[in-house]
Amino acid sequence: MYHSNPKNPAEMVAVQISSRDIVDPRVLRVMRKIPREKFVPEKHRALAYSDQALPIGKDQTISQPYVVAFMTQALAVQASSKVLEVGTGSGYQTAILARLARTVYTVEIIPSLQERAKSVLDSLGFKNIFYKCGDGRLGWHEQAPFDRIIVTAASREIPKMLLDQLADNGKMIIPSGKQGWSQNLILISKHHNQLKREKLLPVRFVPLVKTGKGKQT
Ligand code: SAH
Repeated sequence: MYHSNPKNPAEMVAVQISSRDIVDPRVLRVMRKIPREKFVPEKHRALAYSDQALPIGKDQTISQPYVVAFMTQALAVQASSKVLEVGTGSGYQTAILARLARTVYTVEIIPSLQERAKSVLDSLGFKNIFYKCGDGRLGWHEQAPFDRIIVTAASREIPKMLLDQLADNGKMIIPSGKQGWSQNLILISKHHNQLKREKLLPVRFVPLVKTGKGKQT
């Protein structure tokens, strides 16, 4: 593996993203522009563009840039898409989706994380993101259906309410499997109410939980 510590998003994309199997020009263009450092706590800023997940407090992490790119590309977000994101976390993935889609509805279970993400996203000028604090396994009923759904925390079962809130011709991506190293990204497509599932990449995500009582930081 090539070890490096890029200093800006363009370098990060060149070294870690476009040199691998990420080819969608829209995904690459957006990732070159979003300042990941703004979504990373100050003490980890020196590593903001390295290809790793980093702690964001409350036992949660900002996802690895390559995995963010991979999920975004697999989801094939269109300019007309209405997107549901479960697990706002730092807001970094939210920013990328919001540059590609029409609107992003993001749900986070830990209020302080969502407040911090919202203030960063507001400061970057995003106007097409809508926030809700609560259990994202339930989706966002009032806003359904969604053309695209992305879940950035892992669960054994794929939450049924999310499948119900997926529009026809919609796509959803979710890490699924036991905790630890046995999770995979699953891409689900819906056509005429038929669901198709594809196993993509082995990954390691924090769990999709039922309550947001994380540790104090
Ligand atoms: N995409 C985010 C990933 C954050 S980690 C980023 O790159 O920053 C996953 C997030 O999912 C955490 O913030 C965690 O609090 C949140 N989460 C876990 N279970 C949840 C649930 N049931 N509903 C909504 N958010 C949840």
